[in-house]
Amino acid sequence: MSKPVVAIVGRPNVGKSTLFNTLAGEKISIVKDTPGVTRDRIYANVSWLDWEFTMIDTGGIEPDSKDIILSQMREQAQIAIDTADVIVFITDVKQGVVDADSKVADMLRRSGKPVLLVVNKVDHFEKYMPDVYEFYNLGIGDPIPVSAASRLGLGDMLDEVIAHFPESMKEEEEDDRPRIAIVGKPNVGKSSIINKLLGESRVIVSDIAGTTRDAIDTEVTHDGKEYIFIDTAGLRRKNKIKEELERYSIIRTVTAVERADVVVMVIDATEGVTEQDAKIAGIAHERGKGMIIVVNKWDAIEKNDRTMREFEAQVRQILSYLSYAEILYISAKTGQRLNRLYDMIDMVIQNQTLRIATGVLNEIMTEAVAMQQPPSDKGKRLKLYYITQVSVKPPTFVVFVNDKELMHFSYTRYLENKIREAFGFKGTSLKFFIRERK
Ligand code: GDP
Ligand code: GDP
Repeated sequence: MSKPVVAIVGRPNVGKSTLFNTLAGEKISIVKDTPGVTRDRIYANVSWLDWEFTMIDTGGIEPDSKDIILSQMREQAQIAIDTADVIVFITDVKQGVVDADSKVADMLRRSGKPVLLVVNKVDHFEKYMPDVYEFYNLGIGDPIPVSAASRLGLGDMLDEVIAHFPESMKEEEEDDRPRIAIVGKPNVGKSSIINKLLGESRVIVSDIAGTTRDAIDTEVTHDGKEYIFIDTAGLRRKNKIKEELERYSIIRTVTAVERADVVVMVIDATEGVTEQDAKIAGIAHERGKGMIIVVNKWDAIEKNDRTMREFEAQVRQILSYLSYAEILYISAKTGQRLNRLYDMIDMVIQNQTLRIATGVLNEIMTEAVAMQQPPSDKGKRLKLYYITQVSVKPPTFVVFVNDKELMHFSYTRYLENKIREAFGFKGTSLKFFIRERK
């Protein structure tokens, strides 16, 4: 399912981080064991009633001078307009309406996006309500009073948020054409790849219903099959601040990856694998999407018979958690090997939706256990009773054992390798849940 995106915008100190952390709870989406993934709380998964959405904190660095607050807020607001389905604009009842709020409210109103006006720090409803009415002056609707710190009014606010999710999000779910996000840091060649793919196929560029975001979706027909490419390169912003640019790039990546079945992670052959590549790859990996690693600009480097192996070694080392992903060496400039991308996409989608019968899985597990004894601790040995696949996209397995504590990460990894030896599952991560059966 494609998750809606909610962006938080507001001046420094109005309580954005507090709200973000309260709503995100423990479920911060950044997986700790994915190396290279940013620890910043830029985005998080939030569940409310029967919806799940991605919340994005557009606020970056704290400004140290007053006059850059407005320009920075405009920047934040623009990011929100570009990427979000619903924008939550946060103000502070204690500071009242300030000039920057009015200017940003105008900008948000003109965007035509659903905007919720939230007034924070209303720690006492009766006491502060008269001050809340002042916020009607912003002209973006009814102010919603909350206290992020004391968790007041948040349920009503979330009800409002989900009421604004586009009905069309449900249509997108029914569309079974593969959706492919091309991701990577700026200048690796994302647009060039899409342009080249378009140049060689019958193309319909259209505003596909189902999104209120600006991500540029392109339909491509190849060998009689339709594919939808999600372009994250479309918007190039001329930010001066490096950190902010990176934040923007991460936000774009998260929103595109969220909507995709398969992620094509583009790396620049002339630069090798960088830290920013690792962050971007981590986002796709932790969301369990199909993955293809593409090394672009292969035409632009000097090569000998070892170059490809050496590059692969570098990718495998730095992006070790993506060991399941295939690597394709291409040139968007010359078109070299680009047509292989379609076959890989088809293969990855098949593997993401592959279901293995329980009987077969248990045969593999029994054999694996016979070949390598499960670990034991203090005289108690791990027993594996039963394994079954419970879902797809990504393929997810539940293993029933006598004692969860005994199931080391390394033994789960061993089991995963045995399953991969038998079925490949190229291009997709596999998820394992360990349950106890007494
Ligand atoms: P940000 O800069 O917008 O991310 O704001 P923060 O979340 O860092 O909050 C700024 C300050 O406001 C902190 O000292 C918070 O403790 C405080 N704060 C946040 N929410 C509330 C609230 O609901 N009530 C009160 N009284 N203070 C709050
Ligand atoms: P994006 O920011 O990831 O969309 O990158 P672009 O597609 O705009 O490409 C950035 C630069 O790299 C442009 O100058 C392209 O011409 C160049 N470029 C892209 N692909 C290739 C390639 O395969 N080979 C070479 N030599 N240059 C490329």
